[in-house]
Amino acid sequence: GFQCGIVGLPNVGKSTLFNALTSGSAQVANFPFCTIDPHVGVVPVPDKRLQRLEDLYHPKKTTPTFVEIVDIAGLVRGASSGEGLGNQFLGHIRSVDAIIQVVRVFDDPDIIHVHGKIDPVSDLEVIETELVLADLGSIETRLQKLEKTAKSGSKDLLSQKESLQEIKNHLEKGLPARLLDLEPEKQEFRNTLGLLTQKPVLYVANVSDDLSEIGSEVLDRLLKAVEKRNAVLLTVSARIESEISALPPEERRAFLDELGMKESGLERIVHMGYSILGLVTFLTAGEDEVRAWTVPQGTLAPKAAGKIHSDIERGFIRAEVMKFDDLDRLGSEKAVKEKGLLRLEGKEYPIQDGDVVYFRFHV
Ligand code: GDP
Repeated sequence: GFQCGIVGLPNVGKSTLFNALTSGSAQVANFPFCTIDPHVGVVPVPDKRLQRLEDLYHPKKTTPTFVEIVDIAGLVRGASSGEGLGNQFLGHIRSVDAIIQVVRVFDDPDIIHVHGKIDPVSDLEVIETELVLADLGSIETRLQKLEKTAKSGSKDLLSQKESLQEIKNHLEKGLPARLLDLEPEKQEFRNTLGLLTQKPVLYVANVSDDLSEIGSEVLDRLLKAVEKRNAVLLTVSARIESEISALPPEERRAFLDELGMKESGLERIVHMGYSILGLVTFLTAGEDEVRAWTVPQGTLAPKAAGKIHSDIERGFIRAEVMKFDDLDRLGSEKAVKEKGLLRLEGKEYPIQDGDVVYFRFHV
């Protein structure tokens, strides 16, 4: 599955958000380093299309697609040089596909801020700096190793050295690797380096439960800092999210309506996480099961079929594809066929978001 790691300074609301996302029971306390072990939770991706398919197919069961969320605690100033939990949690960050950075905007005298005051832009920079420093360390190690072997002068090694040097110069300016434009071949090499600041980041501003900071100057400055990084900022109240997730599902809608919210913050986080990871959802529908599946954008039909079963990938003949929107509008598979909107796609077809697919294969 795809993993998103939640990071941020202590006491910004990571665990609260994590618990709300996973409705799990990770320990929450007003105590830095409380959540020492990374907690992993599995979060179903909310998808209204599944409900509609259920109404059309009356399946025995419905299965959403999932993302994994990891609560990574222990990130503090100096972490890259071993402060706090240091390298331990940097390793956890290394293994996730995307980073959700929670930034504290809510003010509450009862909840200690590790730096003594609410300054979201500075918090964002502290975390970013630690990740940049960690990357700088690993680039320098690689460069040293290469110095020894690159004497031979092979073109490949020289180009690698050049790339490393370029990335190093960039990181030294305090900038995350993802913001460096490299030539395509060099980009490929960069992708193999496992850099922390290469991973896509989603910023989450944790505001008070009365949402009083929305439209404030503090939030505005944070938004500017996030935009400067070509990233997205979502504003949520972790407390409200935990209230929502504690409600029985059938009461959530009414509560959101009351707050004037179309989607819960958690839904926005999961959807945005999906989008920064470049993932798409395709659907399968039948009497047995209606199900959502996740693949990276551009995945070809046979590979997508392989998500369901390796036999289907191996024996792939073709994909019969309906657009969910057509099915939704016309109300049945039969009607979609009659309109000539069921398409037969071959091995070179990249699966699109919202495709309702039936794979033909031979055994
Ligand atoms: P973590 O250390 O980043 O995981 O932070 P926690 O989720 O453990 O939260 C630290 C404390 O802040 C807890 O007591 C939370 O109840 C509290 N907290 C989290 N979000 C909010 C919020 O939006 N408003 C207020 N007042 N407190 C919050």
